[in-house]
Amino acid sequence: MSNFDPIPASIKQQLLTQLCERFEDAIFILDTNLRYLSVNATYEIMIGYNEEFLIGRPLGIYSAEFLSEEERTILKDITERLDNEGFYENDFSMATRYGQTLECHMTYRRLCVEQTVYHVGMVRDMSSVVKDRKQVAHLLNYDQLTGLPNRKVFLSQTSELLLESYQEVVIVRLNIDRYRNLASTLGTDSINILVKDFVKQVSKLEMSNLRCFSHFGGDDFALLFECSDANMVRNQLDSLMQMCERPYALVNDVIYLHISVGVSYFPDHGNQFSELLIKAEKALHYVKQNGGDDVCWYNETINEATTDSLQLEAELRVAINDCQFVPYYQPKVALDTGAITGFEALVRWQHPTRGLLRPIDFIDAIIKYKLSFELFYQMAVQIAQQLSIWQALEFTQHICINADAAEFSHSKFFSFINNLFTQHDIHAHQLHIEVTESSLMLRHANVKQQLTLLKELGVCLALDDFGTGYASLSYLQEYPFDFIKIDKSFISKIVTDRTQNAIVKTILDLANALDMQVVAEGIETEQQRDLLVQMGCTYGQGYWFSRPVTADEATEMLTQQYSSK
Ligand code: C2E
Ligand code: MG
Ligand code: MG
Repeated sequence: MSNFDPIPASIKQQLLTQLCERFEDAIFILDTNLRYLSVNATYEIMIGYNEEFLIGRPLGIYSAEFLSEEERTILKDITERLDNEGFYENDFSMATRYGQTLECHMTYRRLCVEQTVYHVGMVRDMSSVVKDRKQVAHLLNYDQLTGLPNRKVFLSQTSELLLESYQEVVIVRLNIDRYRNLASTLGTDSINILVKDFVKQVSKLEMSNLRCFSHFGGDDFALLFECSDANMVRNQLDSLMQMCERPYALVNDVIYLHISVGVSYFPDHGNQFSELLIKAEKALHYVKQNGGDDVCWYNETINEATTDSLQLEAELRVAINDCQFVPYYQPKVALDTGAITGFEALVRWQHPTRGLLRPIDFIDAIIKYKLSFELFYQMAVQIAQQLSIWQALEFTQHICINADAAEFSHSKFFSFINNLFTQHDIHAHQLHIEVTESSLMLRHANVKQQLTLLKELGVCLALDDFGTGYASLSYLQEYPFDFIKIDKSFISKIVTDRTQNAIVKTILDLANALDMQVVAEGIETEQQRDLLVQMGCTYGQGYWFSRPVTADEATEMLTQQYSSK
């Protein structure tokens, strides 16, 4: 240390002066009356006045009578603290000469040089930090799309309100119906516009007694009301439903937004917010299960219904695991000869306690609990096995399987179909896939392309229940169907109803023109069969030929047919 030269005091002084001048915090020196003696460059820039202007002026720049009450209190506080403790610190919004407000952190120190007391202030501009903090708080508490308070805020406001309120507190849960379909048909941008527009319309209703309107994300909303009688909210919800009867105009579409609404309230349905929320959600699910577009106030019947549906879901999962689904086979015949040309596989659930169940008892639940692919898988494997058994007996047949178009989007769908043919050594054209008109109309993304892919694999395609949906006849030619199945509701009346008869004729002509085959479903009488033959319909199915039967019975029918050849 011996040859180390400390810097001379004058150099140190100059360095500190320079540092002070260029420091990123604003620094200023005041006398004991809080009048400016000196300010650094940063302070000049920050406040918008130069040193020359400031020197001699009071800290508040203007004399006391022009300052606000609050400013005067702060100045008094600064003087007192500096006199007593020698230090003052505060966060402060400071107005600049140009009317901008800066969020600042200020410190003042009382320093003494050569028996003179000075007050030295430092100001740090925290505006960007404060802005960041505010932004984070916003991110944590508000939905970024709609700007509405999020679930967290809703829950905390609800529980606070429940603690302090002497009134009734109503919790409303709200979903937009068919949201996923809308989102996939419209695309992200349009659905976002639609959701924002919906929020704007709801806000415009200016519902009275509304304490919070919250967006949980996607199509999921909640409202919180506080009023002397929960029934007062009924009118508000009526106007909400009425609002939804008006169409929303998007760039290329006119959309009707329907909503499902579930309601519960304190004190009748509980006093804990979690309990109330669950009950409002149960009511909401009840509405959705029953087709949506309605308001439901929680009640005990709903509770029982949801318990039942929970049990059904659990049972369906067991059924998938334990292979309780079996195909029954209904022959598809050549109408003129009655010869079996193939079968339609119709699912039956061998329920452990309720016996053999038909699709009407469970197919909606399969779709709802997203088990369609699992069911399809189980049916397809059994069908493929059956085809190989018949193949070995030299019965050349095909089997139609029913599918929901949504299944085609399952990531494993196409590889599964491919493996099916190789593993069971069957031809692709022995498998026919039937999709209903209504499942097509839901317009799952890419369904046309998926059907084309199936065609390329060699699978035959049939449009099921034709005539029951909205599909126009011209719409048909866009899809690569080999068969059209005319719904049984037309066949049952062809003998007696001239209109139905004419419709069937038209469908037959059209199919002919489009090079598609027609299968008439639900033939129950000889008369119906004869009429269809006369009209030129080639294939049919129905109780008049056979009800759906077990695999063994189907094999027996084939054995008879092939032995009589
Ligand atoms: P679908 O595909 O149109 O099947 C024809 C339905 O009509 C079957 O009812 C069949 O038993 C019934 N049927 C056949 N002939 C006649 C007749 O002459 N008269 C009358 N009144 N009815 C007749 P099922 O088996 O109850 O099936 C109902 C629907 O469930 C099927 O309609 C199909 O859409 C669906 N389904 C059946 N199996 C499956 C499956 O494995 N997967 C899927 N996703 N859906 C299936
Ligand atoms: Mg079918
Ligand atoms: Mg059908």
